Amino acid sequence: MEGPEQPLTRAGARAWAVAQVAARGDDPARLVEVEHDALSDSEHSGGYAHRHGRVLYVALRDGSFGTHLDPGDEPGRAALLDRVLERARLRNRTLRPTELGVHQQAVLAALRGGVRRVAALPERERPGVGPVELPGAEWLLMTLRRASPTGAPTAQEALRTLAGSDELLAPPDPGAVRAHPCPLCRGLAPWTERYPAAVCADCGATTRCRHHRLVAGRNTSWNGGFEAVHRDDGSVCDDATAGGGVTVAGLPCRMGEARFGGVVVEAVAQLPDPRDDLAVLGAARTRADLVAEVTGLPAPPLPSWAGGPVADGDVAAHLAHLTDHLLAAAASAWCRDHPGPGQLGDLPREPAVRRGLALLVDPALAP
Ligand SMILES: [Zn+2]
Ligand SMILES: [Zn+2]
Repeated sequence: MEGPEQPLTRAGARAWAVAQVAARGDDPARLVEVEHDALSDSEHSGGYAHRHGRVLYVALRDGSFGTHLDPGDEPGRAALLDRVLERARLRNRTLRPTELGVHQQAVLAALRGGVRRVAALPERERPGVGPVELPGAEWLLMTLRRASPTGAPTAQEALRTLAGSDELLAPPDPGAVRAHPCPLCRGLAPWTERYPAAVCADCGATTRCRHHRLVAGRNTSWNGGFEAVHRDDGSVCDDATAGGGVTVAGLPCRMGEARFGGVVVEAVAQLPDPRDDLAVLGAARTRADLVAEVTGLPAPPLPSWAGGPVADGDVAAHLAHLTDHLLAAAASAWCRDHPGPGQLGDLPREPAVRRGLALLVDPALAP
């Protein structure tokens, strides 16, 4: 939805609401302005509201706008508008650095530094964020990127999003982290049990069909269905729609309807030949590098069995066993509160830390 013209005026807010009503195929002549003292009182955070049928169109001077279900009576409308204004006030308040936790400060540093992972920052640029805090910080970074229309918020924009949400200002729980590394580029992707190989939003935006054209997936109706359309001219790609076979940067992927609506792009797993010891060793090193990336610490040494041979030919199980081993090392020996190995038993946060790290390395291993 396009917003009203800025800086906001009464005429601009009305023109925007008229356009919204017309776009729904309704008659804008019956659009009514809603009077509410708090909207006109505040010079900086106020704005204008209009109603039409069951919909309220609210445009605020801070540039935000949106539609709401009209409660249908004066007191209900006043209460709703007060809530909208309160959220705007929170969003626009100035947060001092001392009001931010270590996770939030590290995420802002990552945005300023232009890195896609908090772990990619040198340790001195993310004080207080070690292996225990990293999963939560990475989740927060992903959440802020997803909240931005461009997918790449400035630190200033992220600060406004943080200011408007008590949940995002609280320390994230490492056990509740729902993110995993994109299997193609290692950026962060939201994790669901059903789609452990889902790619990140950046990769999803560069999906190509067998005709080497960029394609986007969409649902064919409000309750599902799927088709892939070429981004250049909007024509339906019959091949990608029928089979879901697509590529991202030349790597095989599958695009299709997600179970609860929307569209998912998943990478098609590519495992090395179990008879090729060098290839298996390469895959094992990649796992160790991933653990290092996620924890922000040097890559852990590989155990002697890691590079094969893979006796039963099951490379996936072999690598899963290795990753589990490396994660256990990361979650115990590397924890700042319990620096020595062998203290796994009395490490109260270990399950949550390990779960967070597992999601960021190999979701299949998350306990
Ligand atoms: Zn990616
Ligand atoms: Zn095509």
